[in-house]
Amino acid sequence: LNAPQLLVIGGVAAGMSAASRARRLDPELEITVLEKGPQVSYGACGLPYFVAGKIQASELIVHDAEFFREKRGLDVRTGMEAREIEMGRRRVRAVSVETGQEHLFHFDRLVIATGARVAWPAIPGLLQAPGTKPLPHVFPANTFADTTALDAYLRRSGARHAVVLGGGYIGLETADALHDRGLEVTVVQKTDRILRPFDDEITLRVEQALAARGIALRKGAAALAVTESEVISDAGRHPAQIVIVAAGLRPNVDLAEAAGVTLGPTGAIAVDDGMRTNIPSVFAAGDCAESTHLLTRRPVWIPLGTTANKQGRIAGENAAGPGGRARFAGVVGTMVTQLCGLECARTGLSEREAEDGSFRAVSVEIEQYTHAKYLGAGKLYVKLIGEPGSGRLLGAQMAGPSAGKRVDVIATALCARMTVEQLSQLDLSYHPAVAPVWEAVLVGAHELLKKM
Ligand SMILES: Cc1cc2nc3c(=O)[nH]c(=O)nc-3n(C[C@H](O)[C@H](O)[C@H](O)COP(=O)(O)OP(=O)(O)OC[C@H]3O[C@@H](n4cnc5c(N)ncnc54)[C@H](O)[C@@H]3O)c2cc1C
Repeated sequence: LNAPQLLVIGGVAAGMSAASRARRLDPELEITVLEKGPQVSYGACGLPYFVAGKIQASELIVHDAEFFREKRGLDVRTGMEAREIEMGRRRVRAVSVETGQEHLFHFDRLVIATGARVAWPAIPGLLQAPGTKPLPHVFPANTFADTTALDAYLRRSGARHAVVLGGGYIGLETADALHDRGLEVTVVQKTDRILRPFDDEITLRVEQALAARGIALRKGAAALAVTESEVISDAGRHPAQIVIVAAGLRPNVDLAEAAGVTLGPTGAIAVDDGMRTNIPSVFAAGDCAESTHLLTRRPVWIPLGTTANKQGRIAGENAAGPGGRARFAGVVGTMVTQLCGLECARTGLSEREAEDGSFRAVSVEIEQYTHAKYLGAGKLYVKLIGEPGSGRLLGAQMAGPSAGKRVDVIATALCARMTVEQLSQLDLSYHPAVAPVWEAVLVGAHELLKKM
């Protein structure tokens, strides 16, 4: 009898986590991974450091396809693009990116891990012609292939000015990286807010950090056209021998949707907590799939590497054999970024999200040294959000040294459904070189308690 076949589409965080987990649980399973790009299993989150010239691209590759073939017994096919899932016939039609040759891959179980794609704004001049390739000086900065092409262009073109279209964290991290690389950078942001998941108190600090670094930010400026030497927006003309498209992401779901996989209200693939789609033995994980928000209990689409790895592992476990019971617990929207030396982190609901989500929200803001001043501590800004009456903790936003790890305390409290009072009583560590006696999280919780 032939071993069951598990097919995975997409070979980065979610896809390789799924394949590796399934292999660990079932050494007999035949596992094939189709990846249209040249690399599998790389750390996309480190791409800005490669763009900045601080690391080699190869340092981002966790393991190459060869490793997975030889050490894990996974049939990894790079440069192989899945074009159609023939659900009824339980097979995927794929095409070699290099030769154009068609291949058919049978599956008994399928994991869709196709990630997210860059939303391409309809601005004249970005593409060579409608529906075709970008102009040679226009790049997204989301994948290994995008950034190796960008790096090569930077080396040969001698470009001096760059415009980044979009003030989300990927756009801003790339802007920071290009600045490190010696370019004059302008970020053109259509709306009047950057970094949408953050409240204004944080974005203001980021704007100050960008300005201090010398990165120009044009908010509320819609890009109207792109030429070989500039971006024209309704705020003026911005010189640009390089244009980065970072104006948003969409779940990459066309393949799944065409095969009858149900999408959720966010536009990403609807999954249960075992990462199962509406079609038996078909799973989805990572940036192409939804998650449940633990505070609102609603489906959300928060495309992050942390979630992709965890969801991939769950999908792989459940796809490894019938009766898999692994569950993905859900998310609270925890994220951290580092921009122009400023660490910004958030978890739970921002004040705006809480109000939109019909919570009654109150907040407090504090600033606290991260450890003893005499040992060179910096100040951490903390905003804590809670719901008066219920005493419920709703979220936190932080900026400054150690924001990421301190926000993780709040994320843990949110996952454990703690009240603000319970948070204020946590037994947290103290040492002059590491944390103050009254840790920022505790001070914030005590202040918030007064309003609850
Ligand atoms: C610059 C940058 C910085 C980031 N920083 C962070 C961070 O600090 N923290 C964090 O948590 N997250 C971060 N992220 C997000 C994180 O990288 C993603 O959430 C994560 O990579 C998603 O993993 P995934 O496997 O779902 O999707 P992807 O990594 O997008 O992988 C999907 C793969 O599927 C392949 N694919 C798609 N369609 C097909 C097809 N038809 N056939 C074959 N292959 C296909 C694609 O080529 C792609 O390689 C960052 C992302 C970027 C771009």
